[in-house]
Amino acid sequence: MGEDWTNQWSGLRAADSREESRQELRPESPQPRPESPRRHRRETEAGRPIGRRALIVGGAAAAVGGAVLGWDQMAQDGAMREEMARDMWKVPGMRKPRKEGEVDFTGAQWVAASSANWRMADRPADYTIDMVIIHVTQGSFDSAVKVFQNPAHGAAAHYIFRKDGHVAQMIRELDVAYHAGNREYNERSIGIEHEGFVDRPEDFTDEMYRASAQLTARVCARHKIPVDRKHIIGHIEVPEATHTDPGDGWDWDKYMRLVRAARSANA
Ligand SMILES: [Zn+2]
Repeated sequence: MGEDWTNQWSGLRAADSREESRQELRPESPQPRPESPRRHRRETEAGRPIGRRALIVGGAAAAVGGAVLGWDQMAQDGAMREEMARDMWKVPGMRKPRKEGEVDFTGAQWVAASSANWRMADRPADYTIDMVIIHVTQGSFDSAVKVFQNPAHGAAAHYIFRKDGHVAQMIRELDVAYHAGNREYNERSIGIEHEGFVDRPEDFTDEMYRASAQLTARVCARHKIPVDRKHIIGHIEVPEATHTDPGDGWDWDKYMRLVRAARSANA
């Protein structure tokens, strides 16, 4: 790192070798340290007359950035730039275009959840999606849709499946839905709800298993998520989960078999 710095600095020096303020820059100092340009900057800021040389150094400094600001500062700037790029969509007019009613799963019915129940994001650019979380609604499809539209609920999943296999998408996959009760898991997952009750396995129809498996397979394909029980989990498996869904009535063997089949059919 120090060597790069020296090289950049001597390049800068060569650019204005006719100037005589070497003393100030101390390029011939036996152990050039990042401190010296900083010191130079401070001296200039302290009110020394800014001559032509200072202007040239200023211009060159802007070009080499790191040499003058120091490496820590440059690393910080880099991180800041990255963050700015990541957050660019938050700037009005810079958002990733979203079309009203657009869905991520063909055939899904778009029903927007209340914006209080999710957070706008730009996944997978800002957060890697590496998990699907399976839920059971503890109620009907219609009541789940209603609850997710209610800003007071504070939670919602990306998708809800009905017993007949119909699916509503309520939150875009690029956004973070509040469904897992765990911030990190919300940020890295897609949440899928299923109509029914945890203690009524008869609620989980073949049509629903099949349709949901199609979606999970698509999500896994899109985001390169391995089809296994480490990456396709139940709400109850989320650390600090206070919910027990999908419960013992959920047939994991059957579901995973269907996901694997759909995944290889799509591959
Ligand atoms: Zn749940």
